[in-house]
Amino acid sequence: PITPTSKIWMSGQFVDWDDAHIHVLNPTLHYGWGVFEGIRAYPTARGSAVFRLTDHIARLYRSAKIYMMEPSFTQDELVAAVKETVAVNRVDACYIRPLIYLGYGEMGLNPLPSSIEVMVAVWPWGAYLGADAEENGCRATVSTWRRNDNNIIPPAAKASGQYLNSSLAKVAALKAGYDEAILTSPNGNVADGSGENVFIISEGRLITPPLSDGPLGGITRASIMQIAADQGYEVREQHIVRTDLYLADEAFFTGTAAEMVPIVEIDDRPVGAGRPGPITRELLELFHQATRGEIDRYKNWNELVQEP
Ligand code: PMP
Repeated sequence: PITPTSKIWMSGQFVDWDDAHIHVLNPTLHYGWGVFEGIRAYPTARGSAVFRLTDHIARLYRSAKIYMMEPSFTQDELVAAVKETVAVNRVDACYIRPLIYLGYGEMGLNPLPSSIEVMVAVWPWGAYLGADAEENGCRATVSTWRRNDNNIIPPAAKASGQYLNSSLAKVAALKAGYDEAILTSPNGNVADGSGENVFIISEGRLITPPLSDGPLGGITRASIMQIAADQGYEVREQHIVRTDLYLADEAFFTGTAAEMVPIVEIDDRPVGAGRPGPITRELLELFHQATRGEIDRYKNWNELVQEP
């Protein structure tokens, strides 16, 4: 369950957590026309810092553009609103959920006449795939549910209704006894997890599917690609098919909520030795340090909530 904090930012005003309501006839609730982000703030030696906040807000506005939603706030204003919301709620480490949604008043399948609203909420949220997943890894399955095609619901956006696709896969995976689903694109290539990007390591190289196969352009994905390249690893965006998953030496998920989680089993086949692998562990440790502002080279990823 969500742990409530004190205030939620709603289109320019702070509202008490318990009063942050919308009408039941809000069209986003009915048809899913909304776009959102998932962001995390971490404690650093210089105070709480939001990880790659500007990049997340830029992605939010790209999602909004795809869905023709023009918020009345600039990206800079929303960056400031996120920092204020973290500060007001006094949570050093938290998950941050901005959502651009339709205002109440219109109904029907044309969203364009609706007003555009924006909200930002923050709350403490622990490891999304479970407390011991980072340490011991998780078990994944390739879902029978396919990732959306570009001409059905574009996976380049992070839109509310789009997550029906992810949730169908997630629920099926959990009911079958796995921790997470891996979805394939309509042409059968691996795309991503229900809420994470996927990487495999083969012969010392990192491989992750290209965006044309339907994964979200994850900000954790980009960060890990950078960290791995800086460590001297070859990083490729290349098609992955399901047997590449089975035969990989190592595999892991990346995502804001999940952070970085080793995958130790896929469809009941052990990945490598069936334990988190050495390169995965190395990158996980570096990512952990980067989020907490402990690596100089990546300090511009730590966007301080309050200037010292
Ligand atoms: N794929 C999907 C489908 C997601 O929902 C997410 C989470 N936003 C990701 C990948 C990972 O993206 P990020 O690292 O930016 O959180």
